[in-house]
Amino acid sequence: TNTEPAPGAAKKAPARKTTAQKAAEQAPAVIEVRNPGTGAVVGTVPEMSADEVAAKVRELRLFQPEWEAIGPNGRKEWLLKLQDWLIDNTDTIADVVQSETGKPRVDSLIDPAFATDLLGYYARRAAKFLADDHPSPHSPLARVKKLTTAYKPYPVVGVITPWNFPLAMPALDVFPALAAGAAVILKPSEVTPLSALEMARGWAEIGAPPVFAVVTGAAATGAAVIENADYIQFTGSTATGRKIAVACAERMVPYSLELGGKDPAIVLSDADVDRAAHGIAFGGMFNSGQVCISVERVYVEAPVYDEFVAKLTANVKALRQGIDGRESKHDVGALANENQTSVVQRHVDEAVAAGAKVLTGGKRAGFGTAFEPTVLVDVDHTMSCITEETFGPTLPVMKVADEAEAVRLANDSIYGLSASVWTGDKERGERIARQLNAGAVNINDVFVNLFSFALPMGGWGQSGVGARWGGANGVRKYCRQQAITTPLL
Ligand code: NAD
Repeated sequence: TNTEPAPGAAKKAPARKTTAQKAAEQAPAVIEVRNPGTGAVVGTVPEMSADEVAAKVRELRLFQPEWEAIGPNGRKEWLLKLQDWLIDNTDTIADVVQSETGKPRVDSLIDPAFATDLLGYYARRAAKFLADDHPSPHSPLARVKKLTTAYKPYPVVGVITPWNFPLAMPALDVFPALAAGAAVILKPSEVTPLSALEMARGWAEIGAPPVFAVVTGAAATGAAVIENADYIQFTGSTATGRKIAVACAERMVPYSLELGGKDPAIVLSDADVDRAAHGIAFGGMFNSGQVCISVERVYVEAPVYDEFVAKLTANVKALRQGIDGRESKHDVGALANENQTSVVQRHVDEAVAAGAKVLTGGKRAGFGTAFEPTVLVDVDHTMSCITEETFGPTLPVMKVADEAEAVRLANDSIYGLSASVWTGDKERGERIARQLNAGAVNINDVFVNLFSFALPMGGWGQSGVGARWGGANGVRKYCRQQAITTPLL
């Protein structure tokens, strides 16, 4: 039959919406999750509304008091059950991580392994970390009192995370907050929400109390988390972090921000050049350079510059790039999305236009979003590849005259997340570390601080506000402190 309206008919009577059209308008928006290496859609999640987020937080508030009441040892039981679940489900979780990130298999296994390790650390130590403190009175007036500092969890902690480690990033902060006795609402990146949903699946499968919920969506869903939670732990870009700080200030809600970086590596002429070239290749290229503490700039003392550059380039050229199945065949995979690829390409192109040289890489790898591991030389501090966070597989290398110039250039950045110093003299390394504007400094290595939960992890300058972990502080930050004085007599 001809359903075409007669000419002019549509103008006379406004077309009625069909039931299907009405339903489509009311249905929640759906986010498609893609494997950036292949372009294939690997899942969909709903874009959750502000009302849905508010309802989830109300529900969490109902169950949090009981979670707090069972104490750190009661919570330990549940957290260790989840640890067992993570171990039992490592391969399945790695499948999900791999499918939504395009990482090599071995890197996808790091997410569940890292989460498992961190969970054990805080589950086992929370009781000690949350025990009351009894400081000594400093004044004769207080000597007849018992002084107590008690730690009481915020009821609901909101955790907002990026896409670079889609299970580990949530784990970094969700587990300490749960161990502290808070309920947690997690808003993972809309680019990689599926791994976080695995964590929620685990929590449900072990039958744990409903004090952990995942809400999916983009910025508006994140904003709704800020509107409803009592503490905000944010990990992501500096630009978004600034907006989060403003939104939290409006509500007078405390927050902690873990933001971007532009980590320098300093290679001194007394360094073991092989070790430096190897470590810096790893530090720059692991996870395609999409690590907040990736090496993003390298300063090399003149006497070892040529040798270092040759060895670094050889190490980077040897990397195998591609998309893995369950077997591990590659060292470097895809980038998270086209946005990332275009930032990396822009940084390389602008550097080359201003006189830099590409020693290897410099272009797209020919599949999905992937970009070739790239070494750049003849760069300087006017170029975007040195001043902006790249978050991709590029290593710009500069020759410096001496240690003082290396330190000055390393500190010439708005960021201050972490740094590395490569030297044959450990004392010299420590002395230089203390001159660097960075929340962490690794000597003759990269990333070690990230595996040391007893140390604080936080950025200086535009790299963050506050810090995660640092032993006891890692759970105490999710608590309000209460001072109690009791007469002794
Ligand atoms: P992003 O800032 O774009 O997004 C991070 C999260 O914030 C996402 O979940 C996003 O949906 C949400 N969001 C965006 N706008 C929001 C708003 N207005 N209100 C509430 N939530 C909002 O960051 P990204 O691109 O996903 O991640 C890459 C960045 O993360 C890099 O800059 C990297 O250095 C940084 N990072 C930092 C650390 C660290 O520990 N310092 C770790 C990993 C990544």
